[in-house]
Amino acid sequence: MPSPVTVSEEQLKNQFTYIDAVSALTRGKQLRAYTHTFGCQQNEADTERIRGMLHEMGYCMTDRPEDADFILYNTCAVREHAEDRAFGNIGALSHLKKQRPDVVIALCGCMAQQEKNVEKIKKSYPQVSLLFGTHALWRFPSLLYRVLTEKKRVFDIGGEDDIAEGLPVLRAQGPKAWLSIMYGCNNFCTYCIVPYVRGRERSRRPEEIEKELRDLVAAGYKEITLLGQNVNSYGKDLGLDIDFADLLRRLNAVPGDFWLRFMTSHPKDASPRLFDAMAQCEKVAKQLHLPFQSGSDEILRRMNRRYTADEYRALIADARAKMPDITLSSDIIVGFPGETEEDFEQTLQLVEDVRFDLLFTFLYSPRSGTPAASYEDNATPQEKQQRFERLLKAQDAIVAERQAAYQGKTVRLLVDGTAKGPDYPFTARTEGNLLVCVRGADIEIGSFIEAEIDKTSLRCLFARKI
Ligand code: SAM
Ligand code: SF4
Repeated sequence: MPSPVTVSEEQLKNQFTYIDAVSALTRGKQLRAYTHTFGCQQNEADTERIRGMLHEMGYCMTDRPEDADFILYNTCAVREHAEDRAFGNIGALSHLKKQRPDVVIALCGCMAQQEKNVEKIKKSYPQVSLLFGTHALWRFPSLLYRVLTEKKRVFDIGGEDDIAEGLPVLRAQGPKAWLSIMYGCNNFCTYCIVPYVRGRERSRRPEEIEKELRDLVAAGYKEITLLGQNVNSYGKDLGLDIDFADLLRRLNAVPGDFWLRFMTSHPKDASPRLFDAMAQCEKVAKQLHLPFQSGSDEILRRMNRRYTADEYRALIADARAKMPDITLSSDIIVGFPGETEEDFEQTLQLVEDVRFDLLFTFLYSPRSGTPAASYEDNATPQEKQQRFERLLKAQDAIVAERQAAYQGKTVRLLVDGTAKGPDYPFTARTEGNLLVCVRGADIEIGSFIEAEIDKTSLRCLFARKI
């Protein structure tokens, strides 16, 4: 497999020239930018890079689109609902564009990578002046410059599966940061659009990742989440003798008091080697998000997931044997084409057997261009909805039981924000990433504290700092 291509220094330097050129245009104007992100953490990480570039170009950030001179929607194509919301949001901006023709409305991300959406935007959404795909993100400064100076619509959905290092980043406030370790996906699960819109897997070089981690720790970040569509494939394309377990060990050696998390793992590549590394690395949080999608081997085969339900159970048993307190979460798709009542019951059974702390459940959404979109589908929307609700009910009972087991326990927490209620005014996360509302004196956002759980509920634990 060829090594991933990194955008050359020359190409990046060229983009920094455009950053300067846009700064010259915005100087003294106090322009404001609004960004909105749909979808996964990778999209959030991408938006932080665009915000970094906007900041360097002289824009201040605003959280009100009506006050902004530049409005960006970073979109998701994984389910139809996310696409509909993006179109709805852009549609609602047409009157703003009429009132203030100089406002620049931009759309980027996974939707912008699909021909059908590009055509629709071109034809029916004239208020959008800039559209660029996931591969063109690093060219954003030159694209914005063209919009501002040529006063015409710019569309860039081309580009290769390149990696751009060294782009500016403006991260969200707080002690948590995303760190992308790889991009793209080679798995082609039959329901999923991601490999078509994000390209093939390419891993960042370990020294670049380590450098970014060191910079984040030096800047005071306390929880760093390593991102990739399938982090267990890390390194396969690098031609270096390194895999994800090695990378975890290398990053664990970076000095400092912080937690490392990662997502997402694919069960076909998760291994005892990975769980050994997790168990032995004290900075790697004992938390695993391992999507299983369905408990039926027949559905898993048609999803092209390449593991069986029993292989999945064996992985969980191994992870729990090595890390008894590990927190487990998963993704499930309900109503995949051809799912029978019996298939669904096998999914329910897996949920009952594993007893996850958290589940992300989705109704199957057909994505044009994916194989499953043309599979025969017999279940009615009502049947699918009923299955979905049965699953939620079963999971709620499990969560109530698991949360209740924390009553009276002492836990280490990272305080990460403020809560709504006055009694427990701060929010925090356990090492297992469970949400906790905290009370007590001298609590600072961004600090680790010891606390005792004094109340539990379905959605949140409550604790007192000790
Ligand atoms: N790469 C990750 C993995 O393999 O688990 C997940 C990436 S995907 C953006 C997040 C989740 O969306 C998937 O785990 C799956 O449950 C869900 N998903 C993807 N395509 C879907 C579709 N067409 N309909 C419903 N849910 C879908
Ligand atoms: Fe989509 Fe499967 Fe790749 Fe995850 S592993 S991004 S579900 S194709």
